Amino acid sequence: MSVTAQTVWNSCLEFIKDNIQPQAYKTWFEPIVAVKLTDNALSIQVPSKFFYEWLEEHYVKILKVSLTKELGEKAKLVYIIKMENTYGNKQPFTEKIPSSNRSAMKSQEVDVPLNNKSPELRNPFVIPGIRNVKIESQLNPNYSFENFLEGDSNRLARSAGLAVASKPGGTSFNPLLIFGGVGLGKTHLAHAIGVDIKDKYPEKTVLYISAEKFTQQYIDSVKKNNRNDFIHFYQIIDVLIIDDVQFLSGKTGTQDVFFHIFNHLHQNGKQVILTSDKAPVDMQDIEQRLLSRFKWGLSAELQTPDFETRVSILKNKLYRDGVDMPDDIIEYVAKNIKSNVRELEGAIISLIAQSSFNKKEITIDLARIIVEKFVKNTKREVSIDYIQKVVSDYFQMDIDTLQSKTRKRHIVQARQLAMFFAKKFTKASLASIGSQIGKRDHATVLHACKTVDNLSTTDKQFRKYVEDITKKLSV
Ligand code: ADP
Ligand code: MG
Repeated sequence: MSVTAQTVWNSCLEFIKDNIQPQAYKTWFEPIVAVKLTDNALSIQVPSKFFYEWLEEHYVKILKVSLTKELGEKAKLVYIIKMENTYGNKQPFTEKIPSSNRSAMKSQEVDVPLNNKSPELRNPFVIPGIRNVKIESQLNPNYSFENFLEGDSNRLARSAGLAVASKPGGTSFNPLLIFGGVGLGKTHLAHAIGVDIKDKYPEKTVLYISAEKFTQQYIDSVKKNNRNDFIHFYQIIDVLIIDDVQFLSGKTGTQDVFFHIFNHLHQNGKQVILTSDKAPVDMQDIEQRLLSRFKWGLSAELQTPDFETRVSILKNKLYRDGVDMPDDIIEYVAKNIKSNVRELEGAIISLIAQSSFNKKEITIDLARIIVEKFVKNTKREVSIDYIQKVVSDYFQMDIDTLQSKTRKRHIVQARQLAMFFAKKFTKASLASIGSQIGKRDHATVLHACKTVDNLSTTDKQFRKYVEDITKKLSV
């Protein structure tokens, strides 16, 4: 058999494959194309300059050993960097720092001589000369641990966050998933971890990004044909923070790519921090393999803060804003606004604004008016108890019957409807709905929701039940 670039490279690959992790092989060697063999020089084509640098930094030894085995002591490796579509767009997270004297290219130092013919590569994700470029963290310094007041509602999540910040990638909290309802501090805490890491480990690359933006970038990269660069960009991050991962629901392409990025980071001891409005068991339309990864680390819940915590959050905020407010007014606001921290802050901000616009003193009466507006505007959540009452009234049965273990069809249906509406109208988790409606588990609730969905599209009578009860619950 004649010796060609392909056969030489295939033999190298066999050797390499036996000696490195499968995932690394897949990521870094499968995309390479052998192009040319002249004398003792093998030319291989790599997808980007970043790719070339990565190979040089991590795999030059194994490349040398394998190529020398095939071509003898004089073996040479020539990289050809494939020009991908280059875009003049501004680079979203990258910022060039004046290059140091140190040569960014290791090409002169390596034993396998290189012949790098790369023109300047520009695209949103590839970072030429990775050592000389900083990635903007996108962190908000105001969202610090110092400003994140501790209480029973957040103690676990907060201390897990602190642990992660002092040893990113080095604790069993990887990934750290912070979950909880709106306005409870997920974004704040996620930033605080990043800010603290940047403080303690300035050399680490930290990146905060919302799942929504991540998805958008991914879609763009597919359009522009630089999906690989997108992946490589994320694979060099030391601490990746993705906010609101529930946004990935149903987006299989993005989930896929995130799965690979996640695996790569995790395998390399990098830290991943995620936030979500639901616990992993309650996430819908997220691939099972991704969900199971989420459960590898720690899921910590942020709950609604108790009265004391609400008071201290308010006091801290007022102190930082330099506003003096009598304790009884602070307590009045804290007592009446319980849903979440964002609303609590909103109420206090409009109280301050009102008083300064109208040059009025902040009085308890003013507080009463403003709090009332806030409470009115935030639609009161129907409770699961109320839903059970409405549904059982509608079917003229009592709540005990609705909750009973019977398998009689009309009772099962009533129960399933109650579960369906609890899911639809409250923020309760599937597990919590199940435990309140006849002590069932979350799978039963999920099944109930699906059954109701199905029946209401196929069964006229059933659709009428759904419409009637919806009306009763909406008034
Ligand atoms: P989420 O991302 O969960 O919707 P955010 O992180 O945006 O919530 O928080 C909403 C607001 O409440 C932010 O202004 C945040 O600073 C504030 N906040 C939440 N929890 C706390 C806390 N424990 N201490 C101080 N401020 C908090
Ligand atoms: Mg948020």
